[in-house]
Amino acid sequence: SRIAGLDRSLRQRALKVVPGGMYGHMRVAGLPEGYPQFFARGEGCYLWDVDGRKYLDFMCSWGPVVLGHRHPKVDEAARRQMEQGDCLNGPSERMVELAERLVGLVTHADWAMFSKNGTDATTTCVTLARGATGKRKIVLASGAYHGAVPWCSPYPYGVTSEDRVHAIYIKYNDIASLEAAVAQAGNDLAAILVSAFRHDYGQHQELPDPAFARRARSLADANDAALILDDVRAGFRLTLHGSWDPIGVQPDLSAWSKAIANGYALAAVMGNERFRQAASQLYATGSFWCGATSMAAALATIDVLETANGPEHMRLMGQRLRDGVAAQAARHGVAIRQSGPAQMPSILFEDDADYAKGSRFVLEALKRGVYLHPKHNMFLSLAHTAADIDLALSVTDEAFGVIAKLQ
Ligand code: PMP
Repeated sequence: SRIAGLDRSLRQRALKVVPGGMYGHMRVAGLPEGYPQFFARGEGCYLWDVDGRKYLDFMCSWGPVVLGHRHPKVDEAARRQMEQGDCLNGPSERMVELAERLVGLVTHADWAMFSKNGTDATTTCVTLARGATGKRKIVLASGAYHGAVPWCSPYPYGVTSEDRVHAIYIKYNDIASLEAAVAQAGNDLAAILVSAFRHDYGQHQELPDPAFARRARSLADANDAALILDDVRAGFRLTLHGSWDPIGVQPDLSAWSKAIANGYALAAVMGNERFRQAASQLYATGSFWCGATSMAAALATIDVLETANGPEHMRLMGQRLRDGVAAQAARHGVAIRQSGPAQMPSILFEDDADYAKGSRFVLEALKRGVYLHPKHNMFLSLAHTAADIDLALSVTDEAFGVIAKLQ
């Protein structure tokens, strides 16, 4: 077995006291054997598993770590807040400061409210749209990930048909399917819910077609429904102003989490004037939703992202990786397809329906100290330098060599 000592023994202990040994998207069972389940530490764009092996990280904790692990400015802001108190009888000053900062930054936002996870934020958006419109139907793309609760979980386990009775599915970027779904909703359309771009698991990624985005906006307006942008995964990596801002389409409501506090637990819903009243009427709460530490971390994260022009740095580094990988694949005669924004790259192999080539490729990279994912989009961070990308490329070159020999 390629699984080393402490990781192996932790897995065995976990099997007795943790369902399945681990659950959800971080369950390592979805990755080729040899990937560690347990980690000991991270720093910048590197992380170490519990057996002390070091990896150049291209998952960034599946998105949250946008500046790099343990960014000193963020951790210092969090530590200062911790010394004052995190979980109090209500929010701290940080909540108002953060809402002000986000409203100033995110084009469509006139207000912000906070929770902990992306699923909290997407669910709040859907509930708000229903509350505000008094209608029920939600139009959303099949295969799109919006969270892990019954209305949106990608897995049917424990989900009843009633949980989905008001969902109408479309194909992302397909205007005809969008129009048909809206027609089907009739006068009961509460919201059109869209991802920042198509980033379905195991699929090629697709940027939003501006015509699709504009049609979603006009159909929401014509039907007095909300346009909800799920920016949980892409938010703050592509731009600091909302991921559809560059194409000139503003949502009514947006859901955020992952990158907004560089790994501290925080989510946000932002909205425009039209939904302010609804948002003030909604009973939205959680024991930890006012936690001040993650809000202090978010304020520091935004400062660093803005000062360093984080999205542009990540785009340049992602493009350097993409160009290098493309040249290597061509040189080795291996057919691959790269897709999505450079900051959130996806590398899939052609003629690889069972992901056998992709799995072998990432395992060869892992053995050489580079942590990639064979099916999910990956993530760049501000901590990735040109030298780190070049190091990764020296490893992918060898990994492509292995794949080329198999063909
Ligand atoms: N929406 C999108 C687009 C996501 O990528 C995710 C998380 N992968 C979620 C919602 C749910 O976020 P969380 O896992 O924090 O609940």
